[in-house]
Amino acid sequence: MFRENFDGFLNEVTKRIPDGSIFRDAPLSNFSTYRVGGSAALLLRIEDPSVFSIILKGLKKFPLPILLIGNGSNLLISDDGFEGIVLKLGNSFEAIEIEDGVVKAGAAAKLPVVARETVKFGLSGFEWAVGVPGTVGGAVRMNAGGHGSDIATSLIHATILNLLNGSLSNVSAAALDFSYRYSCIKSTDLVLDATFEFIQGDKDESKRVLNEIVRWRRDNQPGGQNSGSVFTNPAGDSAGRLIETAGLKGTRIGSACISEKHANFIQVDEGGSAEDVRKLMSLVAEKVKDFHSITLAPETVLVGFNGDPS
Ligand SMILES: Cc1cc2nc3c(=O)[nH]c(=O)nc-3n(C[C@H](O)[C@H](O)[C@H](O)COP(=O)(O)OP(=O)(O)OC[C@H]3O[C@@H](n4cnc5c(N)ncnc54)[C@H](O)[C@@H]3O)c2cc1C
Repeated sequence: MFRENFDGFLNEVTKRIPDGSIFRDAPLSNFSTYRVGGSAALLLRIEDPSVFSIILKGLKKFPLPILLIGNGSNLLISDDGFEGIVLKLGNSFEAIEIEDGVVKAGAAAKLPVVARETVKFGLSGFEWAVGVPGTVGGAVRMNAGGHGSDIATSLIHATILNLLNGSLSNVSAAALDFSYRYSCIKSTDLVLDATFEFIQGDKDESKRVLNEIVRWRRDNQPGGQNSGSVFTNPAGDSAGRLIETAGLKGTRIGSACISEKHANFIQVDEGGSAEDVRKLMSLVAEKVKDFHSITLAPETVLVGFNGDPS
């Protein structure tokens, strides 16, 4: 069934959208900060919003699994890849407009860029995002956060395209049901842009905060191939503390290793495998359960593994 639908979709869609935006058997390791994982049957890089109607028509006729990728900084993509269509918003979705404390950012805009740009305009409230290597779209979906704040704190509304029925809505933050690293945005809802409101601040103080956050990240988090925090923090505790006190820092399975710098980060060797990361995640969850009687929940989104709902 997949093959039939895939061929039908290809036939229907590819001749109608620009050549340079279609990638068959696209290696997804290039689109994830873990830099592991197999290929997607098809990756479409979208620059022109008029292409959406073509894709939606194609999907209606030939239903296929869809994966939305931002900067891939919270994804673990299986070594078998993703049997479906990956949509990636291109540079034309990176625009940032700022007026009177209101900031509208395209879904592909990078969080550190938005953070620095707001500070340049004397606004305060988004400094926390300077060290988060995601896009606005991924961050809204995940309700990304840090340093005592998150997306929900300043988001007013987001423009969301429902890929199942083609409806385009301006959804208020209240309707997104935000909680810690959660929104009710579904895997078939594509965030196109987000509008935030910030307060006028002291530019020098905000610049100091940006520098302090960058320094803190450098001192406390590892570089290399990783996807940030692997597990969410249980209420009142930190996943990093639980993993560290279970004696797991430095534990390795094949190419994947628990960081010595921050126990809630897994680093992968160059040319490593997603399966090693997944096995290490399972081992950590099991050991933390044995040691602390606490069940850790993954923050990382797993794609292409058994049970993946994409
Ligand atoms: C070094 C490092 C540090 C990090 N620090 C933090 C931190 O402090 N706080 C934190 O919260 N996270 C952190 N992260 C994780 C990650 O950066 C955030 O979750 C980020 O918001 C993910 O954005 P992304 O664009 O990379 O999304 P992706 O990883 O590409 O996708 C994440 C999810 O969002 C969906 N998605 C992506 N784009 C869209 C879109 N346009 N519309 C709808 N859905 C979409 C995907 O399908 C997926 O379900 C860190 C990661 C790294 C590597």
